Parts: sequence; structure tokens; C-alpha cells
Amino acid sequence: MHIAIAGAGLLGRLLAWQLARAGHAVEVFDLAPGPQLRGATGWTAAGMLSPVSELECADANVYQLGLRSLQLWPELLAGLPAVPAAPFAGEDGGPLRPVDLRAQGSLLLAHRGDEGAAARVVDLLADKAPAGHAPRRVDLQELATLEPDIRGPAHAWLLEGEGQIDTWQAMAALALGAQAAGARFHWGRRVERAEPGALHTDQGVVRADWVFDVRGTGARPQLAVRGVRGEIVHLHAPGLRLNRPLRLLHPRHRVYIVPRAGDRVLVGASEIESEDRSPISLRTSVELMAAAHSVLPALAEARVVFTDTNLRPALPDNLPVLHTQPGLTQVNGLFRHGWLIGPALVEQALAALGESTPSETSA
Ligand SMILES: Cc1cc2nc3c(=O)[nH]c(=O)nc-3n(C[C@H](O)[C@H](O)[C@H](O)COP(=O)(O)OP(=O)(O)OC[C@H]3O[C@@H](n4cnc5c(N)ncnc54)[C@H](O)[C@@H]3O)c2cc1C
Repeated sequence: MHIAIAGAGLLGRLLAWQLARAGHAVEVFDLAPGPQLRGATGWTAAGMLSPVSELECADANVYQLGLRSLQLWPELLAGLPAVPAAPFAGEDGGPLRPVDLRAQGSLLLAHRGDEGAAARVVDLLADKAPAGHAPRRVDLQELATLEPDIRGPAHAWLLEGEGQIDTWQAMAALALGAQAAGARFHWGRRVERAEPGALHTDQGVVRADWVFDVRGTGARPQLAVRGVRGEIVHLHAPGLRLNRPLRLLHPRHRVYIVPRAGDRVLVGASEIESEDRSPISLRTSVELMAAAHSVLPALAEARVVFTDTNLRPALPDNLPVLHTQPGLTQVNGLFRHGWLIGPALVEQALAALGESTPSETSA
């Protein structure tokens, strides 16, 4: 089939790569001026693959999609080209490496005095997670074995099986893999409207056998999607020992710290009901970095090398949607879990492709 995809973000790249590999003629249209230019939210994300932690604000379906994606990611990455370890802005990308994917669990941490806020979250997760997947309390001795550089928190819980992916590497590798499989990317092209069998772009109508609309917040007004502002900070912290993502349970803000290749650490993220994409605020910078330093004092001499702001695409109920009709598939509303659930949603979208009867699925 001739397939046209609107949006070359996380979903667009996953679709383009898999459809091109399956032998379809794939064209992708995106506003961004080029593959490495960072319009898509997929670039900004921390890349935590946390089905249990996300239950704080998600439902059982997101959890199941997350579990399925955790199975799919290793298979997907095995077929992708190596790319440089994600460079800091303006720095050399370094040697080629496979996309960094880890599944060593994640930790929830709380300081003395914050037990109330922590218990609310831990109890909620224990209640919503299936038996055997609830947060497991770890004592300070075990914590020191797992993460020797953590100092300060009085309470810790381990979420086994949770993971992380390097989003910069994965975005780059997916575009390269899709191109190598024959997908054609058209950068700097705005899609005004997607309909069955046609994309209306700023440079004319593109006809195709099937259209995928994965424009995230750009899919308005066809979908009631909004953007939820998120701000993050990248630190360079040579010598820091950190093996897995940490989340600090705090009464006022949520902060996570995610290790990345190349001695980098990502600290995130604000969650603000605003479509403002201007640079990170002083308030968020102070809160994120103070919280990170309070559990990892070794970060004191880390260098702030990059900050980023982007908009999470969210529908009114903050849940994802997969809608298929003959000639058109729309996937949107991945909110704060796109990397967690993207592969499973794409699997469902591809399964529905070409089905003779129209179907509508709330994913
Ligand atoms: C700070 C932050 C942290 C996050 N952390 C995590 C995390 O740890 N784990 C996780 O699972 N998820 C995380 N996310 C969420 C995740 O990034 C998103 O859910 C995911 O990127 C959504 O993918 P998408 O393909 O729908 O949208 P996007 O990746 O935003 O892609 C949409 C694409 O459509 C293009 N586009 C838009 N309008 C048009 C148009 N009119 N014409 C042509 N092209 C258009 C855009 O340029 C873009 O390339 C985070 C998000 C943020 C902001």
C-alpha cells in the first residue's frame, strides 16, 4: 500500500519504520525542518518505562499497554541501526552504539517528614497494581547496595521490571531505520487535515491508500487534544553512580532522575496546564535541581548542559485513543506515557490496518 503518515514524532517514526519494513511505500510529513530538529515531544521525554509508577495517573489499560511495550522494545531495538550516544547540544555525538535500553527497575524515595505524601502514592500503586507487582519496600542497607550514591532519603521502594530508554538515541535510530527501509520523510510540511485516503498539506493534497494521523498536539481541531507543559534539565555528572530511574515522593512536586549514557543525568519534570513552550522557568529549575541534589549529593558539581520544554499531547480524560476507519487511523493522547505504551499501540494500529470492517477502539 501507499501509506501517508502525518507527524514524524515517536509514533510516526515507529509506524514508518515498521510499515516500510513490511514492504509498504511510506511517506511521512512533519512540520519540523529536519530529522534531528527537536519539535516532537518524543525528543524531550525522559524515556522512563514505568507501568506501575504511571498507575498514579493512569488506568489498567495503560498498564497493560506498558507491559506489552516492555516486551516489544527489545525486539524492536534489535532491528535498528546503532547511533551516536545522544550528544549534548553542540557536542560531538561520539561513537556509534545500540540504543540504550535498561530494565533494572526503578526506585521511589521519600525524605523523613514526607511519609504522608509517600504513603498516599505507595498505597495507591499497591492497590492498583496486580498482585506481585506492588512497590517493594527496601531498607537503607539494600538501597546502598542498589545505588551507593544515594544519601538522604529515609524510605525507599523498588519497582521491579520497570525500565528506561534513551529517547534521543531511539528517535534518531528510528528515523535512520525507516529511511534505510525505504520510507521518505518530507520535512517542513504542515498537515492541515487528515482524512481517509488523503492528507491536506500546506503544499497540496497527498493521496494514499491509508493515512495515519499521529500529529500529537498538532491534530487539532480534528481531535480535542491539548498540550501539557513539561520542563526538564540535563546534567553532566562524571563519576556519579546511578543505575536506574529514581522518583522522589514529595508533598509539593514530583521529581525524577534518570541516568543516561555518557555520564548524563536527566532531571524532570514539571506538569503544567499550559501550552507555553518558552524556556524552563527559574522556579522549575530550582525545584528540580534542589530535589535531585537532596538525594544525590554527588550532583553538586554536575554541570547543567541542556534544558528543554515541550508539550505532552493529552485528551480530556488523559487517556490514549486509537481510532480506525477505512483509509484512516488516528492515534493520540499518549500524554506522559508515550514511550511506555507507544510500541503496543502501534502494534494494535497495524493489526487494525486493512481490516475490511470499520472499527473504533478506545485504546
Ligand atoms: C517533559 C516530558 C517528559 C516525558 N517523559 C516521559 C517518560 O519518561 N516516559 C514516557 O513514556 N513518556 C514520556 N513523555 C511523553 C512522551 O514524550 C509523549 O507521550 C510522546 O512523545 C507522544 O508521541 P507522539 O508521537 O504522539 O507525539 P510527538 O512525539 O510530539 O510527535 C508529533 C509530531 O507531529 C508533528 N506535527 C505536529 N503538528 C503537525 C502538523 N500540523 N503537520 C505536520 N506535522 C505535525 C510534530 O512536529 C511532531 O514531530 C514525556 C513528555 C514530556 C514533555
